Amino acid sequence: MAIIRCGECGRAISDRAQACIGCGAPLNTPAGFNLTPQRSISPPLTRRQLRQRALLSVSLLALGVLAASALEHRAAGHRVAATLAALLLICGLCACVVTLLQGVASRRS
Ligand SMILES: [Zn+2]
Repeated sequence: MAIIRCGECGRAISDRAQACIGCGAPLNTPAGFNLTPQRSISPPLTRRQLRQRALLSVSLLALGVLAASALEHRAAGHRVAATLAALLLICGLCACVVTLLQGVASRRS
């Protein structure tokens, strides 16, 4: 939810309101249909949160690498374990990328 200004009277109102609470003017951009790109309303992550997420994603990735290398030395046939290792790797990689992007974003703002 964000606070916007009424185009008619200039009063600060919620963007979820159907009409201005001051003058009753209808809002032409209902929240559900606003397709213009907006910045995230949630506050940027703190350094501590970022560090925690980075640690989590890196450990996930490391776990995937460990599992994959452990499987490599064994005979084939561990399909479930191999799938799990691959999933861990992919999730860890994604988490790393997301955390990296969040870190860049929070540094910019
Ligand atoms: Zn108004």
